[in-house]
Amino acid sequence: MRRYSIFSLMRNALSHHEGWQEAWRSPPPKPAYDVVIIGGGGHGLATAYYLAKEHGINNVAVLERGWLGGGNTGRNTAIVRSDYGLESNSRFYEFSLQIWERLSAELNYNVMLSQRGVLRTMHFEAQANALLRRGNWMRVNGIDAVYLTREEVRRKVPVLDFSPTARFPITGAFIQPRAGIARHDAVAWGFARAADSRGADLIQNCEVTGIRIKSGRIVGVDTTRGPIDAKKIGIAVAGHSGHVAALAGLRLPLETHVLQAMVTEPVKPILDVSVAYGAGHFYTNQTDKGELVMGGDIDGYNSYAQRGNLPLIEHLATAAVTAFPCFGRLRIMRHWAGANDMTMDGSPLITKTPIEGLYLNGGWCLGGFKATPASGFVFAHTIAQDRPHELNMAFSLDRFARGYALDERGVGPHPELH
Ligand SMILES: Cc1cc2nc3c(=O)[nH]c(=O)nc-3n(C[C@H](O)[C@H](O)[C@H](O)COP(=O)(O)OP(=O)(O)OC[C@H]3O[C@@H](n4cnc5c(N)ncnc54)[C@H](O)[C@@H]3O)c2cc1C
Repeated sequence: MRRYSIFSLMRNALSHHEGWQEAWRSPPPKPAYDVVIIGGGGHGLATAYYLAKEHGINNVAVLERGWLGGGNTGRNTAIVRSDYGLESNSRFYEFSLQIWERLSAELNYNVMLSQRGVLRTMHFEAQANALLRRGNWMRVNGIDAVYLTREEVRRKVPVLDFSPTARFPITGAFIQPRAGIARHDAVAWGFARAADSRGADLIQNCEVTGIRIKSGRIVGVDTTRGPIDAKKIGIAVAGHSGHVAALAGLRLPLETHVLQAMVTEPVKPILDVSVAYGAGHFYTNQTDKGELVMGGDIDGYNSYAQRGNLPLIEHLATAAVTAFPCFGRLRIMRHWAGANDMTMDGSPLITKTPIEGLYLNGGWCLGGFKATPASGFVFAHTIAQDRPHELNMAFSLDRFARGYALDERGVGPHPELH
């Protein structure tokens, strides 16, 4: 693989940019692999990369039924942070954020990490107490967290509503300054290019339609491009986890819900921090192009539909103008959705399964993009070593049976609330 650099840019400029090497190959599938990863999103691609880099396993195929990064990886609102409260989540997501901080250099691909901070507004006393407790926990564990007074929030984000008639007056805010956003497509493409250069075959338009098992052990998959033998299989299909695991006879403790987002027309720089509005499920950040990306809650019913609907646009628009009255005249340009796999406790699954040689990465709920590098790292470890890494030990499939739920929000077994 040729390195991207100022020199390669200059060299290619001289040939009118017609000589760029393809970022990854598109080989036909081989009859057999050591490891097959189902799902060519960020998690599957990162897993293939770390299998080769950390464990020397490069006879690997990533099978993607559509195009690389076309699932939730290409549909999310790109927020990366590590402001979690539970120890297992906190350590895992902080490990991920630390990888994000060096990822562009490691992959030789600009993932456009912008550590602009993620700020959560406070409006009510109980909410402030909960956020301060979380912030204290983070600081005790060496993770950055800062409390801002109402005046400090006003100076940082003057476009929020600080008028005397504000519907939900802001009393302060909690910010993780190292958090921010990254370019989601670039993450998929960067991991794809790096995995390909280490030997992994990335096979698009290849849907897995069956998982073959012999005497309790994985032997291969059936696909729309023919059967492929495999010694080990990793499932990393996000919102389709339940469906794909069922091909191996597994019933997972999760539900699939639709999560939507939308983006406005571009405007001049107005917001240099990502804001989560504490008086409603609404958050926003401004892209480099100037668009305001807006997201909120999942739809409250199960669905595999990867498209949005008008009630959520109305909800987001209402919250947006409540928090930022000056957004009232912006026009919405695009609106989309992804299928999210919601676990019963809101925490992910990166785990062995009861079937030998079959591993599962899923249950990312609303927030798996930020986990992409760490998830690939520990999933590759779990597959290669046939045992979890210490950072995903808690994310096992049997935690529900053992009574060790990781309920970050403390709402119980209600996927629609996590
Ligand atoms: C609107 C929205 C906003 C979000 N915002 C954020 C955010 O701000 N921050 C954050 O951290 N997270 C966010 N998320 C969640 C995040 O996008 C996901 O958790 C993450 O991208 C999951 O990555 P993945 O690689 O596991 O899945 P995906 O990117 O969905 O990849 C899975 C792939 O598997 C493929 N597949 C499915 N079935 C098969 C099959 N049978 N055979 C072969 N391939 C198959 C799919 O085509 C897909 O490409 C958001 C999600 C949505 C929908």
